[in-house]
Amino acid sequence: MSKKSDKELGVGRRIARRDFLQGAAIGVALTGLAPELAAAAEAEAQNAKDYYPPTRLGMRGSHPGSFEGAHELRDGDFWSKTPKVDAANEHYDLVVVGGGISGLSAAYFYRQKNPKAKVLIIENHDDFGGHAKRNEFHVGGRMHLLNGGTLEIDSPKPYSPVASGVLKTLGIHPAELSKQCDDDTIYAGLKQGVFFDHETFGTDKLVTTTAGREGKADPKEVAAFVAAAPLKDGVRKSILKIETGTEDYYPGLTSDQKKDKLWRFSYKDYLLNVVKADPGVIAYYQHRTDGLWGCGIDAVSALDCWGVGFPGFQGLKLKPGGTNRMGYTPRGYCTPPFGSETFHFPDGNASIARSLVRMLVPGSMPGHTAEDIVTAKCDYSTLDRASNDVRIRLNNIVVRARNAKDGVEVAYTASPGGGAVHRVTARHCIFASWNMMIPYIVTELPAGQKAAMHALIKTPLVYTSVAIRNWSSFKTLGIKGVYAPGGYHSDFHLNAPVNIGSYKSERDPAKPILVHMTRTPAQPGLPEREQHKAGRYELLNTPFETFEREIRAQLGRTLSAGGFDPARDIAGIAVNRWPHGYAPEYNALCDKGFDADHTPNLIERRKFGNIAIANADSGMAAYTDVAMDQAHRAVGELLG
Ligand SMILES: Cc1cc2nc3c(=O)[nH]c(=O)nc-3n(C[C@H](O)[C@H](O)[C@H](O)COP(=O)(O)OP(=O)(O)OC[C@H]3O[C@@H](n4cnc5c(N)ncnc54)[C@H](O)[C@@H]3O)c2cc1C
Repeated sequence: MSKKSDKELGVGRRIARRDFLQGAAIGVALTGLAPELAAAAEAEAQNAKDYYPPTRLGMRGSHPGSFEGAHELRDGDFWSKTPKVDAANEHYDLVVVGGGISGLSAAYFYRQKNPKAKVLIIENHDDFGGHAKRNEFHVGGRMHLLNGGTLEIDSPKPYSPVASGVLKTLGIHPAELSKQCDDDTIYAGLKQGVFFDHETFGTDKLVTTTAGREGKADPKEVAAFVAAAPLKDGVRKSILKIETGTEDYYPGLTSDQKKDKLWRFSYKDYLLNVVKADPGVIAYYQHRTDGLWGCGIDAVSALDCWGVGFPGFQGLKLKPGGTNRMGYTPRGYCTPPFGSETFHFPDGNASIARSLVRMLVPGSMPGHTAEDIVTAKCDYSTLDRASNDVRIRLNNIVVRARNAKDGVEVAYTASPGGGAVHRVTARHCIFASWNMMIPYIVTELPAGQKAAMHALIKTPLVYTSVAIRNWSSFKTLGIKGVYAPGGYHSDFHLNAPVNIGSYKSERDPAKPILVHMTRTPAQPGLPEREQHKAGRYELLNTPFETFEREIRAQLGRTLSAGGFDPARDIAGIAVNRWPHGYAPEYNALCDKGFDADHTPNLIERRKFGNIAIANADSGMAAYTDVAMDQAHRAVGELLG
């Protein structure tokens, strides 16, 4: 925690209108500081003039107003407060619950099989895309984009023909785009920083390094890094050993036999008990896995950490492949580094969601290419017109769905709840929403299916986007990103450069740029799922003001030696809070009641009459291609 006062940090500071015109809901957007006001803004009709949620600041992700109705359903309070249900006055071929990548893909697949189908997509957030969320800032006279959630077109497995077929249909060819759009020149010469904080390491110190986090470190660089780090000698020696050592800790065992050991204990245990490292190294490595799995190295297997290139395994000479995530046991192999493409859109996979919407709702956005989707402005007033074949209804939550004669009856209400409940009928319904909520909505599901859904715990995490007025402090300090093992956000970095169409990443350090920050509220020491439950609770109980204070303090402490002043240099903040983030993946360390071939999602996703279940949860893997594949399966179950 910073010793600076709120005034010195600039907490609550309004941002001058001329500097920072964010468009709609200007009173809320300008400060980015008032969740209560934001909640009021969420109630706006999506066809109101200037309705444009990507520019909203403050608490985003699961924003105020999006989830309260769901929690009332969970707690059994909803129906006692909301007795009035309107008569059904709309009929569709398909109602999709959830407007994320899976829901949008489901609408597309359904209409592929039935081109005349009328589809209604109901989404409880103020924007479509689900986790594929666009953060759009207008600062310094231009648009800056960042992903509020999913970024990469990557996956541990190659994209299936179905998922790559969707991308092709949308004109998205990642390999080609990668050649044209990736730009590694902007931050040339800048290094990775590690910020050692006083509370964890006894002193505040920023140390720079090129000694990778990939287990391919240059011994000289590592030696220089540990010498500069405020660490005890034993810890320095251990880090050197972990990063550059070549000892085989399991001599005589085959690669498969070694892997069979490595998936049975955590990376933390591996470092302490196999590498025999000084316990002081844990504070340094603990948060290395945060961004990947939303928890620290105490809850992730050593094999998974080896699979993503962590250090300490050099001497083991393991053969590529064979991590137990994504249902892969030591028997079935995937190939690091994921076999994925490097390209990403400036707003991440929000551009995939937006491309889907542009195809489903003609006229919603101009253009037709992967390049022009980036800057195309969505006209939200087109999304729910009665004349559309596909309608997207935002700010509404589905609260009941039941099989009826010849179809389904679906009830929904304005997201915060408390208003009238509306009813529509349809031939089919696809839940592309979060599986653990479905038992409260489809109350007639079989008990076993409900139990499997209830057990599902998604990973909480936070992606924070911060607009800063210039990045000269990064340049002065010689860094492009910072790993902060004791920080409120464990990692932050300058917006990853990509030039696509008319969108160009900022080259001039004197000009504004966006900074991406990651926080995982997991509670080390507990099994992964328990860490996530505790983290979700913490997230939902943390007001925006706390985030803002921590963000300003952290950036100030880390960058002030480069001239950064949080009160002066922060132009806007969007905290993308995801209490229900990544779909859970099988983790042999904590998933005891089943194995990788018999995971609960296989029960969760069973078709129930005219209701089918999509969403990445149903594939038990947090990836864009999985969300598409599950939508395809669900449509296939309904239409054969
Ligand atoms: C922070 C973050 C980063 C990620 N990064 C990557 C990445 O780099 N690469 C990658 O491939 N994947 C990534 N993922 C995973 C990827 O985003 C997801 O797998 C995928 O987008 C999920 O899509 P979905 O449609 O299945 O679910 P979601 O995106 O969660 O969409 C479901 C939607 O349904 C809505 N909903 C729920 N209940 C109801 C209801 N009752 N009524 C109406 N609506 C409802 C939800 O609010 C949500 O908007 C990331 C995920 C997160 C959270």
